Parts: sequence; C-alpha cells; structure tokens
Amino acid sequence: PAAEAGLYSSSDQVILLTPDNVQSVLINSTAAIVAEFYASWCGHCVAFSPLYKSLARDIKEWKPAVDLAAVDCAAEVNSKVCTGFGITGYPTIKFFHAYSKADSKGQAVKGFPREVRGLRHMIIDILETHAEPWPPACPPLEPTSQAEIESFFETNNVEHLALIFEEAKSYIGREVTLDLLQFENVAVRRVLGTEEDLVTKLQVTEFPSCYLYYPGGNFTRLKVKIEARAFYTYALQRLPGVVRSGKPPPVIVEVQTNNTEDSWRPFNMSRVYMADLESTLHYSLRVELAAHTIIRGEALVSLKKYTSVLTKYFPGRPVVMNLLRSMNCWLQNQTGDEILYEALKKILDNSALSPNTALPEGVRWVGCQGSQPHLRRYPCGVWTLFHVLTVQAKNVGGTDPQEVLRAMRSYVRSFFGCRPCAGHFENMARESMNEVNTLSSAVLWLWSRHNRVNNRLAGDLSEDPNFPKIQWPSPEMCPACHTVKNNGDHRWHNEQVLPFLLSYFSSGSILTDYLE
Ligand code: FAD
Repeated sequence: PAAEAGLYSSSDQVILLTPDNVQSVLINSTAAIVAEFYASWCGHCVAFSPLYKSLARDIKEWKPAVDLAAVDCAAEVNSKVCTGFGITGYPTIKFFHAYSKADSKGQAVKGFPREVRGLRHMIIDILETHAEPWPPACPPLEPTSQAEIESFFETNNVEHLALIFEEAKSYIGREVTLDLLQFENVAVRRVLGTEEDLVTKLQVTEFPSCYLYYPGGNFTRLKVKIEARAFYTYALQRLPGVVRSGKPPPVIVEVQTNNTEDSWRPFNMSRVYMADLESTLHYSLRVELAAHTIIRGEALVSLKKYTSVLTKYFPGRPVVMNLLRSMNCWLQNQTGDEILYEALKKILDNSALSPNTALPEGVRWVGCQGSQPHLRRYPCGVWTLFHVLTVQAKNVGGTDPQEVLRAMRSYVRSFFGCRPCAGHFENMARESMNEVNTLSSAVLWLWSRHNRVNNRLAGDLSEDPNFPKIQWPSPEMCPACHTVKNNGDHRWHNEQVLPFLLSYFSSGSILTDYLE
C-alpha cells in the first residue's frame, strides 16, 4: 500500500522498491537496473513519471538485460533506503550494474534526457560501458564483422540471423537486438556501413536496412513498410520458428481438437464473430453475475449501467435484443437498494420462454478460442464486446462520450472475476478516462489501453502461444495505422486507426458463423 501511494503502481512495469525487496532487486541481480529515486510531492518527479512509465513500456522486452525500478523517498518507510543510497535531490537516477555488490551505491546518471528516445539511448550507452561481469542475458551490442558472420552458425544454434546495416550513430540495431532478446531462434547483429565486404556482398545501398542471413551465405532483405525499429521488431518476432523463450511452440490445429472439450472451429483471425459476443453475454449474465447472490449499492448501479448500454448499443440478433430489453426494463424498474440474483435469473429464464426472446445457452467461442481450455475465451470476449459497444455508440450517434467506458469500468470493478485485472483496469481508468470527450476518443482510448495491457502481458503465462500479444493491429493488418515520427520512432497514425476500428468492430462486419 505504501508503494501504491507513490507515483507508480504495479501496472506500470516498474519494480516498486521497498525496504523488503531493495537488496534482492538491486544487489547481485543478473540484470542491470535503472532506479529512479523520487519524492511524490516533487513537481519535477510528477512531471517525469509519465515519461518513465512510457520508457518502461517501450523497453519492456529488455527486462532480462536491464530493468527499471523506482522508490518513493517521501514515504517514511523508504527513508532509510534513500539515505542509504545517498539521495539528496529528486528525481535521481542511478544505474546498478548486474551483480552489484552489497555496498554498491549505484552510478548516478547526471543530466538525463527528458524524453523516451533519449533515455533509451542513454541506457544503451551505459550498457555498452558495463563492467564485467556483463549481464548474462544481454546479447553483444557491438557491431559485427564479416569474419564473425562467417562462423556464426558454427557457434550459434539459431535459424535466423538478422543483420541490421546502419551508420555508427544509429541505435536501431542495438534496440532491435534487445527487443528480440526474449525470442528464440533468431539473433540480431548490427553491421556498420564501413564493413565494406559485407556491404558489397549483400549489395546494401540503404542504411538502415535489414537482411536475413542463412548458413551457406544465402540472404534476403527483410521486407518492412518503413526501415525503422518497430517495423523490424514486429517482422522478426513473427518469423517462422521464432518463439518467445520458454514458451511451447504454437500448436497445430489438429492437435488442438484433442485438447479442448469441443472441437476446433476454424475462423478468420482478423474478424469479429457474433458467437463470441453472445458467449460473452451468456457467461457474464448467467455465470459471472450468478456469483453475487445479492447485488446491491454500487454493484446494482453498475449492473443497471451495463444493461442499459447493452440495450442501446449491442448489435445483436432480434431474439437477443428482446431478451436484453426485457432484462433492462425489469432492472431499471427496481427502485430498492438491492436485488437478488435469483430474481434476475427468473427474468432471464422467463423471457426465454416467450417467443422470439433468447440468449443461446452455453458458450461457443470462435474468434476467442484458445489452444488450451484455460486460455483466451471470456476475457477475450469482454474486450471484444466493449470495443464493439464503443464503436456502436459512435456509429449510431450516442450523446455521452464516456457512457460505454463508464459502464465497462463499473462492470469490471463490480463483477469482472479476474480481480487483479479489475485493479489494473481501474488504475488506467483513473489515470486518463476523464480526458475522453468525444465518441471517437472513447473508441481510441479503449484501443490504446487494451494495447497497454497487451504490452504488459506479452510473454506472460496467460499468453496463448498461438495468439501472441502484439501491439494491435499489426502492420500486416493495417499498414496505414503505422508510421514513424521524424526521429524514426514508431507512431500510431490515429487518423487511420480510428476508421480501421470503426470498420473492424462495426455491426456490418460481424460474422454470424456458428450461431445456433
Ligand atoms: P485479448 O487481449 O483478450 O484480445 C481479444 C481480441 O481483441 C484479440 O484477439 C484481437 O483480435 C483484439 N485486440 C487485441 N488488442 C486490441 C486492441 N488494442 N484494440 C482492439 N482490439 C484488440 N489478464 C492478465 O493476466 N492481467 C491483467 O491485468 C488483465 N487485465 C484485464 C483487464 C480487462 C478489462 C480485461 C477484459 C482483460 C484483462 N486481462 C488481464 C485478460 C487479457 O487482457 C486477455 O483478455 C486474455 O489474456 C486473453 O487474451 P487474447 O489473446 O484472447 O487477446
């Protein structure tokens, strides 16, 4: 709780230092650690914190080599920690080498940049001067040579070697090397333009550019929309045979059939299915809510908002809409402070008796199928449902920009069974949901927060190896959605993302396969 009161929370991918963990995090770690010492009352620290959070998301894949930490020196419990490291001003950034000794005070970083790109480059610069022992997970960052390439496959058991040709001052090669750190079967090396033999052999004319090099000397140019870090990283992570370390390789569909209790339904990965939306409603209304015998107070308000939004914007079949309407009508008439779930269930059951009113019994996942029974399914359905609802609100001209998001926030807070998920979502909502002021920005807000969750969960146990968490949509799915800033850093082209989302989740694009 003391740590949560500071400028960072457990959703931020920054290790929150406390007197209890400071030794184990900073001392004798296998990764180098960048630690920010701040005071929650200090204006500069408050201003710096969003940047530090962005940095944490940006270099998330580098964690085994270099990780970020922070400690709130204004919290009394931490004062010993901060004095111990000789902190007198805030924010102070210190770099702790891998295998730092117990008496290490870290290396103070003076005059650090106030933007993500500069901070990222600074971290690479410091890493390159890292004393022995080098963080074991960190691949070599120095430029490679023809001689090393020629013997590369004798000593490295990987399928793909990506060579990034670039100028000496470019950081792309090193960034992509670190971005691929947690992936197997691929290695990345930077080659400088001055490495003439290789440049001539591969006929390289563009810097940067990326080539895949194979045993025996075969090579091909990596095709990307823009020659920039994000595009190389996306493409290399998706090469055949490249998998996240420690993850089983993707399962083949035939095998999956035996793993799940019902047989696999082939589907198009870039479409939304009504069967998933109806399954989500079934699970939400008949299973998740059923866990609450009495629904009262804030939870009852949440349920009313949720039902109202469903009735207004769910692009359902007439039979399903009839059911939602009778449920909504009954609920909005409940003026007391509480209802019994049993009473709500009666409404669901009774209306299902009337003609043309029904919600299919049971779930039938399609686009949300997982390669294992414990993967994807309901949470995938919840995201899909609310993306569809924000898009519908925009398409049919809702009046309150935050209506759907507030319904989602309160539903998740009151009912979503995954409690840590609910906490993380609440953190994001508290941070920025009030900035949403148009129906379009509601669509974009949910999309970008979902990407934050994807960033945090990439590589997590809950990730289905067949459906890796990516920053969505990928450049293949929506090339126009991706662009770069003048400095070459990735930028979402929001003017293109919005129409993409409005079309992708629109009622007219939803497929009705596999419905009863
Ligand atoms: P999902 O992330 O569920 O996405 C479903 C589908 O939506 C994808 O297949 C894709 O087609 C599309 N999609 C992906 N990204 C976007 C995007 N940015 N915008 C629009 N569409 C997109 N799990 C945890 O382990 N920890 C958490 O803290 C956590 N928090 C959650 C909070 C909420 C509110 C929800 C609904 C779920 C949360 N989950 C959390 C579950 C997790 O986010 C995934 O839903 C789950 O792991 C299943 O992943 P999936 O591969 O099916 O894709």
